[in-house]
Parts: sequence; C-alpha cells; structure tokens
Amino acid sequence: ASTRRPFIAGNWKMNLDHLQGIALVQKLAWTLKDASFDPKAVEVAVFPPFTDLRSVQTLVDAERFGLAFGAQDLSPHDAGAYTGDVSGAFLKALSCTYVLIGHSERRQGHGETDEVVHAKVQAAVRHGLVPVICVGETEEELEQHGTSAVPVAQTKAALAGLPAGTPVVVAYEPVWAIGTGKVATPETAQEVCGAIRAAVAETLGPDDAAATRILYGGSVKSGNIAGFLRKGDVDGALVGGASLDPTEFAAIARFQD
Ligand code: PEP
Repeated sequence: ASTRRPFIAGNWKMNLDHLQGIALVQKLAWTLKDASFDPKAVEVAVFPPFTDLRSVQTLVDAERFGLAFGAQDLSPHDAGAYTGDVSGAFLKALSCTYVLIGHSERRQGHGETDEVVHAKVQAAVRHGLVPVICVGETEEELEQHGTSAVPVAQTKAALAGLPAGTPVVVAYEPVWAIGTGKVATPETAQEVCGAIRAAVAETLGPDDAAATRILYGGSVKSGNIAGFLRKGDVDGALVGGASLDPTEFAAIARFQD
C-alpha cells in the first residue's frame, strides 16, 4: 500500500469542441457527485484540446468537484516567433495543473525526440505545470529490446537534470496498446512501472521515486482498471477513448466500487 493518491487522467486527443467539452465536463462532474465520489481519495483530470481549455476552466469548480485539468502539449519556448505553438505561461494563466508531454502520437506524428520531450519538461516545470510524461515502446521495440528498456530510457532522458523535489507524473503507455483494444496485463504494467520508478529514483532520488505517480495507459476501461490499480507500482491510468464517454470515465474513476 502506498500513500500516493491514485490519478485517473482523460486524454481527449483531437475530439470534442468547446461546447461538447462543456457538456462532457458537466456530465462527468455530476455523475461523480451523484455517486458520492471522494476527490480526496482519487484525483481525476481531463486533458481537452487547447481550444476547450478556457471553457473547461470556467466549469471545473475544483472546490466543489475536485476535478483538475491540463493541456495535451506545450511549446519548449516561453514566448516569441513560434507560430502555432502554445506557451506554458498561457496554460498556467488558465489554471492548468498538468500538461501531457511526449505522447506517442506526438513522438510518432510530430517527430518529437527525447531531446524535444526533455525541453518541454523543462518548460512545463519553469511555468509551474506538472508534466505528465508519456513513455512506451512500439511492438518492434518490444521484440528488439524487451519490456522495460525503452520506457526506462525515455524516462531517464525526460527527467535528466531536474532537481529533486520536482513534481512529475510518468505514464507508461505501450504504443501497441493505445487505441487498439489490446491491453497489457497488470503483471506487465507492474513490471514496467516498477522499472520506471527505479529510473525516477536514479534521476530524482528515492524520496521522489516514492512520491511520484506512475500510470498505465492503453485501452483502459471500467472493466479492466481495477486489475491495474491492485499492483503496487501502478498509481492510476491515462485513458484515451474511454474518457470521451463521461459515464464510462466516471466508472473508471470509481474503480474501487
Ligand atoms: C492514450 O492515448 O493516452 C490512450 C491510452 O488511448 P486509449 O485509452 O484509447 O488506448
């Protein structure tokens, strides 16, 4: 048993405009409230598209519903001639708590290397945002390097040079399990999340390793979440597809019921 508060994070990806986002957050908040959900026991956060953040910010009443929110990406730069990019400063000004960094769809679709991910982690920390660093291997990398090598190397590269005490979240998302319906076993998730925790201990130190939440992501649903959360080093889930249905996402957040 750990003292880490479980974290259920919903990555909407490029889905839901701001009106649809408002509807989802309202439904989610009331579903959780009606179920007497205790936000002190489990933290729930949503990661909408940039264009929804202002709407979600005005709706998410942290005191009342205990929901947090974050962005799906940020610029490694603070301001200036970077057309189309969004600064961490702007996200902080909208009260974002978190920002996803290095999601496999950005590593693959936008050529984000470990160096880019590292620079974005630095930018997030500079602006007081908690980076949710996504790591994970492709099917090919799994065959070539085994289970933990790639996520551990990506974790170390992302955290390099950060001072001890920097709050971060790491999400282990095997690329072959994202949006595919193929799900890692709880045993594999535990093995990799444990190896990631050891990598956090090496980079930030043992106290940070004990405090850092490490999530599993990849085809998580209300029917399989409990098996992951029973594992000692799995502290929650990053949920894609299933976070677009507020009833299902609320059921994931209530995995203990
Ligand atoms: C994700 O994109 O972070 C993810 C885990 O997606 P899904 O839950 O749809 O597999």
